[in-house]
Amino acid sequence: KNRPEVNIAEWTEGILTGNRGMLAQAITLIESNAEHHFRTAQKLLQELLPHSGNAIRIGITGVPGAGKSTFIEAFGTFLCDLGLKVAVLAVDPSSSISGGSILGDKTRMEQLSRNPRAFIRPSPSAGKLGGVHRKTRETITLCEAAGFNVILVETVGVGQSEVLVRDMVDFFMLLVLTGAGDELQGMKKGIMELADAVLVNKADGENKRLALKTKAEYNRILHFLQPATKGWQTKAATCSAIYQEGMKDIWDTIQSFEKTTKKSGVFENRRRAQTKEWIYAMIIDQLQFSFFNHQEVKPLLPQMENEVIAGARTVTSAVEELFQAYSINKKL
Ligand code: GDP
Repeated sequence: KNRPEVNIAEWTEGILTGNRGMLAQAITLIESNAEHHFRTAQKLLQELLPHSGNAIRIGITGVPGAGKSTFIEAFGTFLCDLGLKVAVLAVDPSSSISGGSILGDKTRMEQLSRNPRAFIRPSPSAGKLGGVHRKTRETITLCEAAGFNVILVETVGVGQSEVLVRDMVDFFMLLVLTGAGDELQGMKKGIMELADAVLVNKADGENKRLALKTKAEYNRILHFLQPATKGWQTKAATCSAIYQEGMKDIWDTIQSFEKTTKKSGVFENRRRAQTKEWIYAMIIDQLQFSFFNHQEVKPLLPQMENEVIAGARTVTSAVEELFQAYSINKKL
């Protein structure tokens, strides 16, 4: 009980005036799995919420090796040079499962991490008080309150994490490689249908010609797909992250997207839908936590598993038994 009290008013003021130390500590509270940290972070968020919402939120995905971190380094630096403040967050599905990490090691984006206008935060790990989506969304809120104009959310192109990130950002882009002839065929249409832009990276040197050809192929396919955002035709472009080429073009595209979708109301509608979705995602998180940590359910679960596997019980009956146990002495 001798915890040092966090002065909420002081922290709110600190974050609003751009105190990075306080911002970083506040994110740590959000990411913490300790109950008292969670409570403190929620109080802080309540204060900061009215000051958030003013940034453009951009998601970036692509397979490992597509050049995401090189791109973010180049694009982030470009934006900082325009006088913007850029926060880089990551959603790394691997870290919560294997403990290892595809994204988020500290040696990446060295130049950007030294830029006083930039703020880089590696992926949080999932914990019992809600998953990565809650943490990332709340971190976006904090960064916006701290005055960042652009939030870049990076995720690796494997499975569910793109959908997760698509649900938190205004603009979503897919970084791809050349020589994609076959890859293009094999690529899940689903991912392309999430994207507001497809960027063929590494369009430099001998690869440039091929990159332009790949871009044309993507454009042909995109033409037949359902657009990710109503009223916006997703297009492919080329860039070279390593030579910092194509950065202005993509920024122009994003600004044009923002203008178009704000005018049509699609921008605000999406944000409202995302906020609503956030509520349900968190309810599911809490329910899962409450179920799997329930004092009657926990010991019963392995027993039910065994009985089902041994063929002694149907899955439905095992689940019913577990929910019966869950409703006894239920408390969160
Ligand atoms: P990530 O796994 O998607 O984050 O990819 P990285 O940013 O780590 O890049 C993977 C490799 O591709 C690295 O060796 C980069 O130097 C290289 N790379 C990234 N962007 C470019 C580019 O625009 N042109 C070339 N030629 N190489 C690049």
